[in-house]
Amino acid sequence: MSNIKRIGVLTSGGDAPGMNAAIRAVTRAAIYHGLEVYGIMRGYEGMMNGDFTKLESKDVSGIIQKGGTILETARCLKFKTEEGRRTAFEQLQKHEIDGVVVIGGDGSFTGASLISKEHSIPFIGIPGTIDNDLYGTDYTIGYDTALNTVVEAVDKIRDTASSHNRIFFVEVMGKEAGFVALRSGIACGAEAIFIPEVSGQQQKLINYLTSRGKKKKSSIIMVAEGDDEGNAFEIAKRVQTELPETDIRVTILGHIQRGGTPSAYDRVTASKMGVAAVEALLDDQKSIMIGLVNNEITHVPLSKTVKLHKDVSQSLLELADILV
Ligand code: ADP
Repeated sequence: MSNIKRIGVLTSGGDAPGMNAAIRAVTRAAIYHGLEVYGIMRGYEGMMNGDFTKLESKDVSGIIQKGGTILETARCLKFKTEEGRRTAFEQLQKHEIDGVVVIGGDGSFTGASLISKEHSIPFIGIPGTIDNDLYGTDYTIGYDTALNTVVEAVDKIRDTASSHNRIFFVEVMGKEAGFVALRSGIACGAEAIFIPEVSGQQQKLINYLTSRGKKKKSSIIMVAEGDDEGNAFEIAKRVQTELPETDIRVTILGHIQRGGTPSAYDRVTASKMGVAAVEALLDDQKSIMIGLVNNEITHVPLSKTVKLHKDVSQSLLELADILV
């Protein structure tokens, strides 16, 4: 028998569509297993301030289809200090919380891993970030929705690009990783994809645009915001200098990628992960992330998720090379 009677759930760091579906799943699974659930507002900030609200099943009705997070999210610098984490732990003790589910990215998991070790309280992570850049899981909640948002926007840009024979550089999210750019680039039939994991793309693009001559003039070039060769404006400017005849435009998709109705895939993934997180707590797991690998739920130590780097898929890179 597990000693867990009451759990907390919070969302932390960057928001992602599908976080609400995860909150709903954690809440309903906990109630199903006879536990009490408290929603912790605005991530670790609310944990430190004791901003806890009891959640009943009805409190998570009608949220599965909503983007954002009903618990709100925040970045909390104080939690990075030992003293801050002690204050947070004291609040958890005061509210008799026996375990916590954190829905967030690698920053949130670094904090979870530390407080869990320092105060011996179980923390279970659910990967929620549109960037999909977490080690130990094929998918993070929000990634699929963000891809669909990008594809929908780029399809519209493609219409105007081909009408005017323009080359559009479209910048998408991904400061340190090219998951969004690579997968959405393939889905949009982009003519080139700039991601931090692959160098030398600019010269390749110039060669391609030069060699195709006057045959086809419109193109979509996908750029991850953290690309080594610069942002979309910088790359576009250099290409324009090399090819002065071309009509070039730049679009930054920005925060629309974080919002919107979560896709069916994200809702189901969030539901599976939410239930698995509660079951992990009941199984006396201490400091792990729920992952999804080959469509199966896995448990990955939080310490590994924050230390190890996830590579972009080699087969997707090859696919992009063949199809561009
Ligand atoms: P994400 O979880 O999306 O990567 P952040 O990197 O902003 O987002 O992290 C979210 C929160 O997690 C931070 O505001 C902070 O409270 C906590 N956190 C991040 N990094 C650390 C760290 N090194 N030590 C302790 N807590 C951290």
